[in-house]
Amino acid sequence: MNNTVWRCVAGLALAGSATLACADFPEKPVTLVVPFAAGGPSDKIARDLAEALRKPLGQTVIIENAAGAGGTIGSAKVARATPDGYTLLVHHIGMATAPALYRKLGYKVPEDFEPLGLINEAPSVLIGKPTLAANSFAELRQWIASNGGKVNLANAGLGSASHLCGLMFQSALKTNMTPVPYKGTAPAMTDLIGGQVDLMCEQATNAVPQIEGKKVKVYGITSLQRLPLPALKDTATLSESGLKDFNVQVWHGLYAPRGTPPEVLAKLNAALRTALKDAELIKREEALGLTVVADDRLDPAGHKKFLIAEKARWSKVIQDAGEYAD
Ligand code: ASP
Repeated sequence: MNNTVWRCVAGLALAGSATLACADFPEKPVTLVVPFAAGGPSDKIARDLAEALRKPLGQTVIIENAAGAGGTIGSAKVARATPDGYTLLVHHIGMATAPALYRKLGYKVPEDFEPLGLINEAPSVLIGKPTLAANSFAELRQWIASNGGKVNLANAGLGSASHLCGLMFQSALKTNMTPVPYKGTAPAMTDLIGGQVDLMCEQATNAVPQIEGKKVKVYGITSLQRLPLPALKDTATLSESGLKDFNVQVWHGLYAPRGTPPEVLAKLNAALRTALKDAELIKREEALGLTVVADDRLDPAGHKKFLIAEKARWSKVIQDAGEYAD
């Protein structure tokens, strides 16, 4: 048993109250591990959250990017971290998709984590390189049909949101494209803007500034609702454009490693709830199309239930698609 757990348990035995033993948490900076490259959507969300958590935790909150393998490297790192509340994971829908995609995953979902609450829901858009001739989704479909397997599709690695969305897109069009994996959509975006790759699904968080700057072309929203953002006011959903029921909606959550003392988890959840009520954070997130979670998924039990349901839903889709990695 590690020291912190021991200290809390010893506190329980000695003082009759674990709250007393863990009362000083946090006594030092808390690290949020982001399993993708800096400058991408997960990184941005984690940095905004770190800022909003600073006050309720009374401590500095640091970001550590542990990118690679579609978010599974950073997730494994947190699963193995000392469960003392000082190392947390900010991860998205990949938490629910990786178990079906990876035959050898170094952790179990949800068993190796303590879900602390959902952070937000993040819509995505399908975007293309600026030199693509297609100016509408209908034209894009034609272009894909005539270029077949030569079309490439950037993603943030197997299990990332962009990968999942790309998988769904190919299956909806009944076409195979060439996936190009990166350590996050931040480096992928650089190549998309530069024309080295053709298409990518990207969360509105990072896509909107590039659409506004006319650095990329936008072809559709990947979830079922249009987005009330000026940059996307004329953008239809992929479902409306003919890919009926196409729906890839990304969400992010906060996790501690399994075995973190309940008193520490309670403090972290309380801090998360306070952070997500922060008016500045809400304003920033909404401007990028994100919805801050304010329902029962902000509760560890509700988050866990949602995670299990998402895992079951995506496992089926992924198995049906016959996609996996060793
Ligand atoms: N969340 C990833 C990132 O921040 C993107 C993705 O999953 O597609 O780069």
